[in-house]
Amino acid sequence: MSTLMHRETGRPGRSAFLRESSEEIRSSEDANAMLFVRLRDFHELRARIGYDAGDALSALIADGIEEILRPGDSGYRLGDGEFAVFLGRLLSDNHALLAAGRLQRMLRDEIRLEGRHWPLDAAIGLAHSSGSSTDPELLLRQADRASQRALATRMPLERYVAPHPHEDIPKDALREAILGNRMQVWLQPIWDLRQRKMIGVESLARWLDGTYGLVSPGDFVPLAERTGLIGDFTRWCLNATLRHTFELRKLRPDVHVGINFSPRLFVEDDIVEQVHGALAIWNVPHDAVMLEVTEGETMQNPERSAMMLTRFHDSGIAVALDDFGMGHSSFDYLRRYPVSALKIDQGFVRDIGQSERARQLVRSMVDLARNLGITSIAEGVEDASTLHVLEGMGCDRVQGYHISRPQPADALLASLGKD
Ligand code: C2E
Ligand code: CA
Ligand code: CA
Repeated sequence: MSTLMHRETGRPGRSAFLRESSEEIRSSEDANAMLFVRLRDFHELRARIGYDAGDALSALIADGIEEILRPGDSGYRLGDGEFAVFLGRLLSDNHALLAAGRLQRMLRDEIRLEGRHWPLDAAIGLAHSSGSSTDPELLLRQADRASQRALATRMPLERYVAPHPHEDIPKDALREAILGNRMQVWLQPIWDLRQRKMIGVESLARWLDGTYGLVSPGDFVPLAERTGLIGDFTRWCLNATLRHTFELRKLRPDVHVGINFSPRLFVEDDIVEQVHGALAIWNVPHDAVMLEVTEGETMQNPERSAMMLTRFHDSGIAVALDDFGMGHSSFDYLRRYPVSALKIDQGFVRDIGQSERARQLVRSMVDLARNLGITSIAEGVEDASTLHVLEGMGCDRVQGYHISRPQPADALLASLGKD
C-alpha cells in the first residue's frame, strides 16, 4: 500500500497524490470517491494554541487519517486544517460513508496532544467518481464544494450535487431567496502583517438553495445586477452583515468589516443616507466599515461614482478599490476617488511564487499604495511562501485561504467567543 500523507503542503506532493489517484481510477473497475475534510474552526484553534502546537496537531491528524486508509486509498494534507482522502476500489456507495464516519469519530475521539484530548469537528464533502467525473482534480473540486456546503448546512457530511447552470436559475428563485432571508453572510478574516492579528473581515454572500445547491456570488450577483435585484440584495447584505459586525465588535472592538458594494446602487439618490441609517440601527460606527468597489463597475458613470464615494468618505466610511490592477485605467480611479485601500487582485498575488514579473507588479502596487498613504491588501494568499514574499515587500494586510477561508458568520463568531 502506498499512502501519500504529506506533512508539508507543496505542489510535488499534490501532483503525486493526484497522479496516484488517477492511476487507481484507471486500473480498477470499481467505483472511487474523494473526501474533502475541512476542520471547523481550525485557524482560530491554531491562533489560540500557537503555530507549533497547531502543526503538531496537524501531524497527529495526518497519522490518524493514515491509519484509516486501506490499500488503494491515499491521503494528502491540502493546507491548514484541510485534508483530501481518495478512496479507491469501493464495492458500494456505503463504503465511502463508512470511511467518512470513521474519520469523524477518529477526529472527535482520538486526537491527543500532550495528554490532552482535542475533540475536532470536520465538515466533510464527498464526491463519487461514477459517471463522467473520473478526473481526480475535478473530484477534489467537487468534494471541496460539498464540504463548503457542509459548512453552510452545519451537517457533518454533504455529498456533491451538480449545480444548475446559473443561466437556468429563474429570477423569482433569487428574489424569494433574498426577500425570504435565505441568503447567508460568510466572513473571511483579513490580517494585519505588522500587528500579526486579525484586523478586519470581508463579508461574502452565499446562497444555499434546496434545488440549486450552494450558489456562489460569482453566479448570482451578476444575475441580481441583470434583473434589477441588486438593490434588494445589497440592502439585505448590508443589514445582515452589520448585525454580525455588532456582535463581532463585542469580541474584537477594533475589527472593521469590508462590504462589497455594487456601484449600480449609486443611481439611488439617498443611498448614502440608507447606509447611514443601517449603521445607526445596528449601532456600528462609520469607521468600522470599508466599502469595496471594483474599478470596472464604477465606469458606468464615473462622475456620479466619484460624488457618491466622496460623500461616503467624508462621512467616515472608508472606500477600497477591489480587484486592483485588473481594470483599464486604475490610475485614473486613484485620481478621481477618495480611496483608503487597494485590494490587489488575487490573479497577481497567486503567481508571485513562480513569476518574477508578477512579483514586480505586486511590489509596484504595494509601493504605489505606500506612496499615496493608503493601505495595501493582498487577496488570494494561499500559502506560506506567498505570505513571506508579501511581508518582505511591506504589504500592509493579507487575506486568503492560507490565513483563513471564508466561513459562516455564526461559526466565526462562535470560534472567537471561545478565546
Ligand atoms: P471579491 O470581492 O474579490 O471576493 C474575494 C473572493 O475570493 C471570494 O469569492 C473569496 O471566497 C475568494 N477567496 C478568498 N481567499 C481566496 C484564496 O486564497 N484563493 C482563492 N482562489 N480564492 C479566495 P466569493 O465569495 O465566491 O465571491 C466572489 C465575488 O462575488 C466577490 O469577489 C465579490 O465581487 C462578489 N460578492 C461576494 N459577496 C458579495 C456581496 O455581498 N455583494 C456584492 N455586491 N458582491 C459580492
Ligand atoms: Ca471584495
Ligand atoms: Ca477582490
